[in-house]
Amino acid sequence: MAPDLAACEALDRADPLAVHREAFDLPEGAVYLDGNSLGALPRATAARVADCVRREWGQDLITSWNRADWIGLPRRVGDKIARLVGAGPGEVVVADSTSINVFKVLSAALALRPGRRTILSDTGNFPTDLYMAQGLSRLLGAGHHLRLVAPEEVAGAIDADTAVVMLTEVDYRSGRRHDMRALTAAAHRAGALAIWDLAHSAGALPVDLAGCEADFAVGCGYKFLNGGPGAPAFLHVARRHQDGFAQPLSGWLGHDAPFAFEAGYRPAAGIGRYACGTPPVLSMVALECGVDTVLAADMAALRAKSMRLGDLFVELVEERCAGHGIALACPRDAAARGSQVSFTHPDGYAIVQALVARGVIGDFRAPDVMRFGLAPLYLRHADIWRAVDALAGILASRAHDDPRFRRRAAVT
Ligand SMILES: *Cc1c(COP(=O)(O)O)cnc(C)c1O
Repeated sequence: MAPDLAACEALDRADPLAVHREAFDLPEGAVYLDGNSLGALPRATAARVADCVRREWGQDLITSWNRADWIGLPRRVGDKIARLVGAGPGEVVVADSTSINVFKVLSAALALRPGRRTILSDTGNFPTDLYMAQGLSRLLGAGHHLRLVAPEEVAGAIDADTAVVMLTEVDYRSGRRHDMRALTAAAHRAGALAIWDLAHSAGALPVDLAGCEADFAVGCGYKFLNGGPGAPAFLHVARRHQDGFAQPLSGWLGHDAPFAFEAGYRPAAGIGRYACGTPPVLSMVALECGVDTVLAADMAALRAKSMRLGDLFVELVEERCAGHGIALACPRDAAARGSQVSFTHPDGYAIVQALVARGVIGDFRAPDVMRFGLAPLYLRHADIWRAVDALAGILASRAHDDPRFRRRAAVT
């Protein structure tokens, strides 16, 4: 028997991570299961952004680039993220979007493996990573091609033409987790490099980029890092590769001496050359507040809680929703899963809309996946119980047949 609501509430009272929920401004009564897509608002963010606007910008004006160290934000927040993903200081910088950072690190990887033409990825990868690889290959005009294989076939598909293995650790639809250590080692054995997209990993589970000897990584600021809508992204370059190549988006803030205003581009030493233009300061201070919420907790404890929440979700769905056409679409083994659970249902879109109408916010990914993110910083066991209770109620009453739940919005 799965736990009932009272048992879930008892688990919450005994949860040492429960205090972290206080660091967030969550709407009363809502169950928020989309922290993997847009992290919740930290309580500190509004005041910090207001101070940046009113004092640093309004009063101190341009002097804040130095006085408030706005110019240092990309590296400073990058170093904080480095602690969450197992990288060293000076190996991570915050800049641009994940898509643009894929372009930068992929350019670097391809240049470091001249003569090799294959970019290897899997069919489950997030489309923007694939699109950026296609665009870069066209731009380079050097015969590179993107090869996609099933996720479980990646290791066997690495060959002597593979320049780079470019993967997302946690599949955005199924939550399936790649073995970063084993696949990076397999890439290296074949003479290839590895790029990891940590969009659904950073802030959600322990990542050990150094221990895995990963070459490059990218990730999002607005998902489990709670940086706010459109938060800047991060990128990682292992120190051994940093000075081996200058990425092609050679903007002035990646220059060795931006304020020398030289006519010729000379890349900065180290990770700084992966920056391009002026950082979005307001967004970066918001991101720093989000990253701080994760740094305040123990990552191993967060992971353990996220695994328990996922197991609870699956157990409750199987007990209470069976027979309604719902099927598990994520690994049953918590260790093989990221911080989300997914289920398929032919009416998945409408069911998710019916859940949202009841205050249970998850999302839908085409063609039929209902996705529930489990942000262990602010979710309670009782939230999981309430979410599945709502789901069971909808399925039993076919509430999702209401036509208003079938109209597709621009963002699903
Ligand atoms: C969310 C996500 C992105 C988003 O990229 P943006 O440039 O921020 O829009 C990229 N890759 C993966 C794997 C994602 O899950």
